[in-house]
Amino acid sequence: MSLAHGRPYLAIPGPSAMPDRVLNAMHRAAPNIYEGALHEMVASLWPDLKRIAGTEHQVALYIANGHGAWEAANANLFSRGDRALVLATGRFGHGWAESARALGVDVQLIDFGRAAPADPARLEEALRADPGHRIKAVLVTHVDTATSIRNDVAALRAAIDAVGHPALLAVDCIASLACDEYRMDEWGADVTVGASQKGLMTPPGLGFVWYSDRALERCRASDLRTPYWDWTPRSFGTEFWQHFCGTAPTHHLYGLRAALDMILDEGLPAVWARHEALARAVWTAFDHWGAGNPEIALNVADAACRGRSVTAARMGAPHATRLREWTETRAGVTLGIGLGMALPSEPAYHGFLRVAHMGHVNAHMTLGALAVMEAGLAALEIPHGEGALAAAAASLGAAA
Ligand SMILES: *Cc1c(COP(=O)(O)O)cnc(C)c1O
Repeated sequence: MSLAHGRPYLAIPGPSAMPDRVLNAMHRAAPNIYEGALHEMVASLWPDLKRIAGTEHQVALYIANGHGAWEAANANLFSRGDRALVLATGRFGHGWAESARALGVDVQLIDFGRAAPADPARLEEALRADPGHRIKAVLVTHVDTATSIRNDVAALRAAIDAVGHPALLAVDCIASLACDEYRMDEWGADVTVGASQKGLMTPPGLGFVWYSDRALERCRASDLRTPYWDWTPRSFGTEFWQHFCGTAPTHHLYGLRAALDMILDEGLPAVWARHEALARAVWTAFDHWGAGNPEIALNVADAACRGRSVTAARMGAPHATRLREWTETRAGVTLGIGLGMALPSEPAYHGFLRVAHMGHVNAHMTLGALAVMEAGLAALEIPHGEGALAAAAASLGAAA
């Protein structure tokens, strides 16, 4: 028998659950792109997008997914042959590096592995070894969605400043924006990259790059910039079409407007606190399961270094894949695959999974997903410790 019939829950780290309010806002006839209501609505997006990233500087919007936003940032930051220093803490750090390398950027990569954050001391060391200032920018993910490692952006900025190195700091916040606390200006990031389909609760298709005045000045001469990726007309265009380099992504923009309203109505600190509480409930459940089976464990040992939007865990191959299949087919909950931890062709691949708690997610969704996982662990006779659900419920009860 299957108990999956009913509203399904996609608990993968993007695309995330979409609010009915966002979907309903998109369900409309094509608007006039030349004048009228669309122009007014879009004018209201810019200040709110800056609030989401914590910046008073510029934002450029692209019809693109996260890979497009990476390329947008790279194309504006670098000229061919410039050096980028990439601090990788998972698959997505490597992905941004690959994007830069393919454009002709000279990539220097420090790999911090899959279980620890980027170490500011090693960043400092790498910058001290570059007295000629060949490194133009440091690229890092705030939360790497593959490992769920969260990096300390302010500490990385401090390391750059300690050396007095002029490198810009560019941060991929695709998995953390409107989930995990992020303050672009206060923390000293020069560039922030985002996408619509994670914490921003809007279908995949919008990419964002926020950039500081320093980045604007420093990157004016970048020769990788092509007309489509150039961030300046998108921010400073005097005609409506210039913000999108052509036709606006009309329906996505209406969806985004509704999503920003929801986030700002709740209030960013409350949004961050909600994600924190949901994340802690998930961690608590895994800790209890793991107490009865040493193969079950969170990927990141130190809670301070875990993202609040996604949790990567292991449970011994092939149990993670068995559990994912069970929760999806028997109970309507789709969990995330393990990403970048082992090749899909390797047996170890089936020992990793991720639970998303990102965006339009509340207590009953997360507790429901955990309870379904517990049911699956029992049905599949995967050894696990007792008391996970009671502990997760108590942790949410205490936070609410
Ligand atoms: C999802 C994600 C990406 C890639 O986004 P796509 O839309 O799949 O191209 C990049 N970086 C991070 C941190 C992500 O979470």
